[in-house]
Amino acid sequence: MQSNRLPENKEIIAEHEAEVRQAVNEAKRDPELEQILAKVDWGWLKQRFGRILAHTDIDPASLNFVPPDMIESDHTWESEGFYSIFNNQLVVNPEKVREVQELWQVPIELMWLYLLAHEETHAVSKSECVGAFGDVSEYYLRSGYSLYHANEQDESKEFDTYQILDEGITDKLAREIVLEYLEAHPDFADATGTKEFTSKLNDDRWHKKYNLEVSLVELMIDRLARETGVTSKIVWNAMLQGKLEGEDLTHQDFQELARQFFSEKFLHQLKMTEASSDKPLGALSLFKEFNLTSIDPALKAKIEARIQAAQHLQEEKLSLAA
Ligand SMILES: [Zn+2]
Repeated sequence: MQSNRLPENKEIIAEHEAEVRQAVNEAKRDPELEQILAKVDWGWLKQRFGRILAHTDIDPASLNFVPPDMIESDHTWESEGFYSIFNNQLVVNPEKVREVQELWQVPIELMWLYLLAHEETHAVSKSECVGAFGDVSEYYLRSGYSLYHANEQDESKEFDTYQILDEGITDKLAREIVLEYLEAHPDFADATGTKEFTSKLNDDRWHKKYNLEVSLVELMIDRLARETGVTSKIVWNAMLQGKLEGEDLTHQDFQELARQFFSEKFLHQLKMTEASSDKPLGALSLFKEFNLTSIDPALKAKIEARIQAAQHLQEEKLSLAA
């Protein structure tokens, strides 16, 4: 049982996890997925995530890392994959991964690596199911900074908070981890393909899902570093630690602190805006908070290129829809 999950009755959770594990064991394994999973150095990945906890009170051994035998394929799922807080497992759709690979034109294992690094980041983030077990229709699911308010009786009452921030941090970390992984494992995929992939990952003109969320996180880091006089790296590490510890951003202490650095309007948008996976420009309204002319010119250039790439994609989608 992972110690950082679920503030609920431990017996109920243990029972539920045993049921999930049994169902996963009994399900037919997808040979394509198995082949990919067998190639990944899971020990390296787990250790890399554990390093985030090095300067915290959390024991790296308690990291909620999902092992490969708890990764299942679901060919009906609408995106490449997700982390199920409720079942503590990763669910992936190999067909959707292939669709993304067709866009990127790089070896498929690299698209898998990026996806797995992203979903494992969600898994190691503090998870909590509040009131989700038993006969209830309303409950909360926390993952890192985001909190999903579920209402099975009335879907219109369901909403996510801090999703945009949580996805931005998740994908920023996933990109770092993927690049480090490929440095440490140069033979993971063929050399030409790896070069093409890393150059696209680093190229801000190449649109990636959550690009604007990542930009938002970088703008926040830039402001916090300037205002507090600490390095960007320290701010970034603090953000990651808060995500793994499940820091509650709705807490009054945090809100008071945050108001010293960000406008009330921005903090409200940060809480309520959903991540833009389907709408490439969804996060753009939050950029108004930042005066792009006064930030680091290198960061400004990166962010402008990403906005342009997202605008381009949006136009393409609109013209396809028309
Ligand atoms: Zn995500």
